[in-house]
Amino acid sequence: MSFENLGLSSPILKAVKEKGYITPSPIQEKAIPLVLDRKDILASAQTGTGKTAGFTLPILQILSTTPNQGRRKIRSLILTPTRELAAQIYENIKEYSVYLDIKATVVFGGVNINPQISTLKNGIDILVATPGRLLDLHGQRALSLANVEILVLDEADRMLDMGFAKDIKRVLALVPERRQNLLFSATFSLEIKQLAAGILHNPEMVEASPENTTVEKIEQRVILADKNRKPSMLVKMIKEDNWDQVLVFTRTKHGANKLTEKLQKSDITSAAIHGNKSQGARTKALDDFKKNEIQVLVATDIAARGLDIPLLPHVVNYELPNVPEDYVHRIGRTGRAGASGEAVSFVCSEEYDFLRGIEKLLGQKFERETMLGYEPTEEESIAPSKAEHRRPNNNFRKPNPQSGGGRSPHSGGGSSTSDSKKPKRFFGKR
Ligand code: AMP
Repeated sequence: MSFENLGLSSPILKAVKEKGYITPSPIQEKAIPLVLDRKDILASAQTGTGKTAGFTLPILQILSTTPNQGRRKIRSLILTPTRELAAQIYENIKEYSVYLDIKATVVFGGVNINPQISTLKNGIDILVATPGRLLDLHGQRALSLANVEILVLDEADRMLDMGFAKDIKRVLALVPERRQNLLFSATFSLEIKQLAAGILHNPEMVEASPENTTVEKIEQRVILADKNRKPSMLVKMIKEDNWDQVLVFTRTKHGANKLTEKLQKSDITSAAIHGNKSQGARTKALDDFKKNEIQVLVATDIAARGLDIPLLPHVVNYELPNVPEDYVHRIGRTGRAGASGEAVSFVCSEEYDFLRGIEKLLGQKFERETMLGYEPTEEESIAPSKAEHRRPNNNFRKPNPQSGGGRSPHSGGGSSTSDSKKPKRFFGKR
């Protein structure tokens, strides 16, 4: 299957080609023809599957082939839970529409509202928005949603998790009843099903499950650890394996700050990105990370949603998420759109239940490893795997009850040899 077979016009195909996409991802293959057919869709897809192009390309096609008469009106509204995701979708739309006469903009909270009001005044076709700021702007009469033809709810599950249910209802009351609806969600809880039932008309189901997209390209590793030794383990791993670009997840904002400080003290450039950081600080941290000016970005789950970082080579779950689906989101930051990646999880005894939850969700049991010199001292409440496999990297091995005293120097030759064996990856070209 090629993009040419999906019914997209040549200006869009040209932009897609310039973006470097060669073949459509599974979700794009399925969703694009349905959206062009003006169907409502209920899509199960998360970041990393190429879902953004799956809905933005056909929207661009529809809007550009049935142009506005007179002044531009908002004909497509894309609602997203986070600023980062909103900004990312907007960036993609700009890139995909370079050869079209389509205007898009993005609005989100945490930044001055006035420039957003001025942009909206000039007329736009596509609005990407987070719910709160959208309603603010509507309240100030800076926009009208009376002409929306296509409504997208992206990461609907996360919007509900973040408490946007009421805001979504308010928005639904502002858009015309006759419209096309596209709902994307990584998970399908009862609430999502109820939301979908209230919005979608005879939806087509589109699935891009993690099993057949990203997850299989990701090497997932579980390293058992004592909680208090995780910081040194991370430092050792980053330094000895010469990791350049590492995204590290913590469960809390405080944990993210603390770890960032520890990394900086160990001469590893890093920045934290979480809900308490200003929009400016978050954007700067992400930019610095993308430009390779900082080595490690430490993030909480919500802050990391929607970050677009192509070809991220390493993701570390410094702490496991307590919601198993968040694990899938996190590791979706690596191995994106065809590239492979590695996701390493440090698991201490109080996280075993989380680990089991993740294994259950994925239907997969992970081999447990330990790091040489950092074997956990805390009692394990799960039996380590019996397999004899040893990792090529000498720093890691499976737990061995006889190796209790086998501490070894950190800086042994093992990791430097393993380093040269590993293909080094960098951020790909956009
Ligand atoms: P998304 O799941 O929409 O966040 O997209 C994940 C990443 O894949 C983004 O960096 C996109 O630019 C990239 N991408 C989307 N579609 C394709 C494609 N067909 N081929 C290669 N990369 C793609």
